[in-house]
Amino acid sequence: MADNSVKEIDDLVKIISRLPGLGPKSAKRIVLKLINNREELIKPLTNTLAQVYKKVVRCNICGNLKSLDSDCTCTSKTYDQICVVENIADMWVIQNTGIYKGHYHILGGTLSSFENKKKGNGLLIESLINRVKKSSVKEVILATSASIEGETTSHYISDSLKDSKVKITRLAKGVPVGGEIEFLDDGTLFSAFKNRAPLAND
Ligand SMILES: [Zn+2]
Repeated sequence: MADNSVKEIDDLVKIISRLPGLGPKSAKRIVLKLINNREELIKPLTNTLAQVYKKVVRCNICGNLKSLDSDCTCTSKTYDQICVVENIADMWVIQNTGIYKGHYHILGGTLSSFENKKKGNGLLIESLINRVKKSSVKEVILATSASIEGETTSHYISDSLKDSKVKITRLAKGVPVGGEIEFLDDGTLFSAFKNRAPLAND
C-alpha cells in the first residue's frame, strides 16, 4: 500500500489534536485550512505563536499571565478585593460574567492533603498571604471549587490569614458539590458571588 502521507502534515495534525476539544478529524480540517491559507493564516500564526512563546509568562506573584513587556495588573492598587481561583480558566469564566471587578489570584491548583500543605505543592499560597499583608486589600473572596480539595484549600488560606484584618468570604453554597467554577452557568455563578459569606473556620 502506497503511503502518501506527508510527515510535516502528520506532525502538525498530531500537535493540533492535542488541543482541548479537538480530535484527529477536526485537527485535519484545521491543518487543511491552514495550508490553503498560507499567507493569511500560517504566517501570522507563526509570528504570533513565537511572540507568545517568547513574551507571555506566569506572574510569580498572582499567577496570572503577563507580557514581559508590561507590569502585571496585580501591582496596581485599583481594587480592594482579591478573588482567589484555582486556575486561569476559572478567572476567565468569572470575568466573562461581569459579576466581579477586582484583582485575581490564581493558585495553580488545590491542596489535596495535609502533607501537601507544608510544601504548598507549587501553589501560590504563600505569595497570596504576602500579597494580602502588603496591600490595602479589604476582602479576599475564595472562589475555589466546591470539592473536598477546594474546601481544604479555602480553609487553609483563611486560617493563614486569620491574623490579618482582611475580610474573608467564600462563594455561596449554590455551587454544586464537586462543582468546578469553570463549568458553572452564569446564573449559578452570579448568585454564588452575590451570596458569598464569611468563611467560618472550625
Ligand atoms: Zn501578577
